[in-house]
Amino acid sequence: MTPPAHAPAAVTLLRVALPLRTPLRSAHGTEEVRHLVLVRMELADGSVGWGECSALERPTYTSEWSAGAWSVLHDQLVPEVLAGEEPDVVGHPMAFAALTTARLDADLRRRGVALAAELGQAHGRPAPAVARGAVIGRGGPDDVLAAVEARIHDGASLVKLKVTPAPDDLDNVARVRAAWPDLVLAVDANGTLDARAASLLAEHDLAYVEQPRPPDDLLGSAELARRFGLRVALDESVTSVDALRSALALGAAQVVNVKPARLGGVRPAAEVARVAADAGCGVFVGGMLESGIGRAAALALAALPICDVPTDLGPSAQYLARDVTDPIELDADGRVVVPVGPGIGVVPRADRLDAFVHDRSTLTA
Ligand code: MG
Repeated sequence: MTPPAHAPAAVTLLRVALPLRTPLRSAHGTEEVRHLVLVRMELADGSVGWGECSALERPTYTSEWSAGAWSVLHDQLVPEVLAGEEPDVVGHPMAFAALTTARLDADLRRRGVALAAELGQAHGRPAPAVARGAVIGRGGPDDVLAAVEARIHDGASLVKLKVTPAPDDLDNVARVRAAWPDLVLAVDANGTLDARAASLLAEHDLAYVEQPRPPDDLLGSAELARRFGLRVALDESVTSVDALRSALALGAAQVVNVKPARLGGVRPAAEVARVAADAGCGVFVGGMLESGIGRAAALALAALPICDVPTDLGPSAQYLARDVTDPIELDADGRVVVPVGPGIGVVPRADRLDAFVHDRSTLTA
């Protein structure tokens, strides 16, 4: 029997290592080289699609990590998909997202439809470019102030500082606020805040305080929001629509960070964004230091009108000396341009794959 044209015929997994322009330091560690797993899927009719697994090198942000993602893709998810089965794996949303995005990209290319337009059918007309926030890692005061100035200069409409309760981090927030009283300023604590730090941050008119308490501590995030009048943005806590509904019922989220990687792909992420927006929450698409592949897919989501807070996604040049794709760029107003064209709108360049891929494996149906 001939397989249907849209059936997956072959999947290649590629391990890439992309040097970051500047290491990013946050509560959960420092990233210097971005280790990613790219997925290339070929359908029976020859259509090809790409996806990216954005898990970090070590399991410090969530429990996924790039080597683990490679294993679960290679040994479980890809064989199941090639056998025509529904993937049967608990967890591993970033590995899952890589595979589902590659399949969606291939299918959309086959149909000549852009991902943003596809998502827009259910969620409203996508914008051609999106306002962005700049995420600035932990560091000394001079470095942080210089980074904020540079990002304001190139058009960021929000600046977010990575923080912990350490006095140096909290002093940096006060310094930035003093230097730019009108700046739209936010912080991301990656689950580390205590009441004292929250009370100090409450003095700085922050657009939001991201993930103040650990992922499971929804009551703690709700309490900090209530006690100090903070607008809490949840990131790690929001793993599904159900988790979001619990957070909303408790008053633990006034803003939601949707990341296609954390939520298992752009379609489930769009569903979370829809539920959050309908509940009156602010919504933005967070970043995972993606390559152009993951960044393009996430931008298609960020372009939807349900995402009304500046995205963390920035131009390739802000993070990487060289991207695997043609670079994601800014427009004249400093907004990130959403790639046009079928599927996610970008493909890896062969010369860049040669330079950055250090392992690959192809599985066939
Ligand atoms: Mg975050």
